[in-house]
Amino acid sequence: MPKNPQVMHPPEVARHINEACTRCGTCVRRCAFLTKYGMPGDIARRVLTGERTVDPYECSLCNLCAAVCPEELAPGDLFLALRRLAANQGLVDFKPYAPLLGYEKRGHSSLFAWYPSTPAKTVFFPGCTLPGTRPRVTWRFFETLRELEPETTMVLDCCHKPSHDLGRQSFFFEQFRSIRDRLLALGVERVIVACPNCHKVFRKYGEGLTVTTVYEVMAQKQARMTKESATVSLSTTAQVTVHDPCPLRDQPGVHQAVRSLLAARGFDIREMEDSGTRTLCCGEGGAVGFRNPTLAATWVEKRRTQAQGDRIITYCAGCAGFLNRAAPTSHLGDVLFEPERALTGKNMMAKAPITYLNRLLLKRQLKRLS
Ligand code: SF4
Ligand code: SF4
Repeated sequence: MPKNPQVMHPPEVARHINEACTRCGTCVRRCAFLTKYGMPGDIARRVLTGERTVDPYECSLCNLCAAVCPEELAPGDLFLALRRLAANQGLVDFKPYAPLLGYEKRGHSSLFAWYPSTPAKTVFFPGCTLPGTRPRVTWRFFETLRELEPETTMVLDCCHKPSHDLGRQSFFFEQFRSIRDRLLALGVERVIVACPNCHKVFRKYGEGLTVTTVYEVMAQKQARMTKESATVSLSTTAQVTVHDPCPLRDQPGVHQAVRSLLAARGFDIREMEDSGTRTLCCGEGGAVGFRNPTLAATWVEKRRTQAQGDRIITYCAGCAGFLNRAAPTSHLGDVLFEPERALTGKNMMAKAPITYLNRLLLKRQLKRLS
């Protein structure tokens, strides 16, 4: 892993966006943050002249702007670079983010983290939120993976995406490097994730490791799975809609895998207006809710409207929690393993502090297995 991989220098990014943006407004029409601050080209021009007229901590870093831009620009990169610059210059008060950073710190602590003591080639890395909110579902994913690939073992740790997105780049690189080095020292070659944020971090910074999702592995091996140990099918057809998490917007293979898993269990999928590569942020992205809850809420409201009353199925535990505030939402794992309960809203996800207890119990289960 290079010292500071993929660091974007704001003047460089700003210059490119200022010159290449045609001010067509395509991205602005889809984003409340840009509607507030203006065309990316104009924001970039103001950045170059030293005007501090944009708060990059109000951008969700969802990259929808990049997905719709006819010039193939990525304004979200500018806002991440501006976050990094502000954080490096000590201009950011991180106190409001203490709950999020505390969550990250606990996830990486020796109390909650878990690594096998023997070498492993493939590990399941479920992240923080899924094990906390849904320990049973996490275990079922693990059992399914072990049925398919018996050597798979589980690692519990936090990928440090919160620090990455908050612009704490040196801290992020240092922490993630320690995770990557520990995995490589164990002989790990392949990381199977459940969390879209972990996927993004491993694919961008996990040099030497390949990353895939548990959903892709399950879809590929669908034919080999036994119904009893893997998943349960529905007794009747249910119409649902799918929310693709924005960190995976450029991963059509994952979108397809999720849909094939749902279709094979008898779900009838109605696509929302914005899905796949053009999916929307769930509202949690970029920790905008800590800075400007009203802007974060605009994404949730768009999703609620687009769902048209159908249950939303997503494959990010964070998105599931955020969207469920506005519309009935389940994690894919809920509907794969306990569909009848999920569809009647009975398999509620755990909330803090129970989530921490769940993670400790899951770790104990892993210790027993080792
Ligand atoms: S990354 Fe998302 S929130 Fe930020 S400017 Fe682009 S579309 Fe808007
Ligand atoms: S879509 Fe691209 S070219 Fe159009 S305003 Fe946005 S960044 Fe500029």
